[in-house]
Amino acid sequence: MNAEEILSRIENAMSKSGRKDKVFFAAVSKTRTVDEMKEAEKIPFVDFFGENRVQEAESKRKVYGESRIPWRLIGHLQANKARKAAEIFDTIDSIDSPELAARLSRIAGELGKVIPVLIEVNTSGEASKSGVDPANFTELLDAVISQENLRLDGLMTVGPITDDERGIRNAFANLRTLSENARKKTGLELPVLSMGMSGDFELAILEGSTMIRIGTLLFGPRDYRHS
Ligand SMILES: *Cc1c(COP(=O)(O)O)cnc(C)c1O
Repeated sequence: MNAEEILSRIENAMSKSGRKDKVFFAAVSKTRTVDEMKEAEKIPFVDFFGENRVQEAESKRKVYGESRIPWRLIGHLQANKARKAAEIFDTIDSIDSPELAARLSRIAGELGKVIPVLIEVNTSGEASKSGVDPANFTELLDAVISQENLRLDGLMTVGPITDDERGIRNAFANLRTLSENARKKTGLELPVLSMGMSGDFELAILEGSTMIRIGTLLFGPRDYRHS
C-alpha cells in the first residue's frame, strides 16, 4: 500500500488549493479481502470503508469483527436491498430517487435508527453512471429532507471518464454549486462533498471535496474475478 505517497499527494493538493480544513478518506474496499481491509484500517488517515455491493459487504461484515471506522455504501442501492443495507451500513451515500429515500426512511424507523445519507448526483451525464440527474435534484432534495429517519449530510458524485481536466473539474464544480444552493435553500450544514477517486482526487480537492474515495491507489488494481 502506498499510504505515504497518497498522504503527500493529498497534502500537496490541499496546500495548492489553500485549504486548511480536512479531507476525509474513504478506503474503497470492494473486491478486497477482510485481511486487506484490516491492514487498511491500521492507516491513521483512513476514516471510512466504502463498499458498493450490499451482499459483498454483508459477508465481510459477518467475519470482520469490531471496526474502528464506519462503513459507507457508495454503490447504487436497489429497492429490494434497502433493508439489508440499512442493517449493515453506517451511512448510505447513493440516494438517487424519492422512492428510495421514502423506503429507506420507513425501514430506518422500523429499525429504530436515523440513517445518515448523501444524495448521489450524476454530474457527468454519462448513461452508465448512477445518481440523480441535476435537473431533478431539487425535487429529490425536498423528498430527502422531509424523511423523518434520514439525515442528509451532503452530496456525492463520480467524475466523468475522460482525460480532459476541465471536464472533470466542471463536474466537481457543479456538485459544489448544487451543494451551496441546497445549503441556502434548506439551512442545513451539508458538510460532506464526496468526490474524487484514484484518478481524479487532486482535481476534486481543488474543487472543494471534503471526502475522497480511494480504491486502486491504496490496494492496487482490482481483480473482479473473485467478487
Ligand atoms: C470503485 C469506486 C471508487 C474507487 O475507485 P478507484 O478508482 O479504485 O479509486 C470510488 N467511488 C465509487 C462510487 C466506486 O464505485
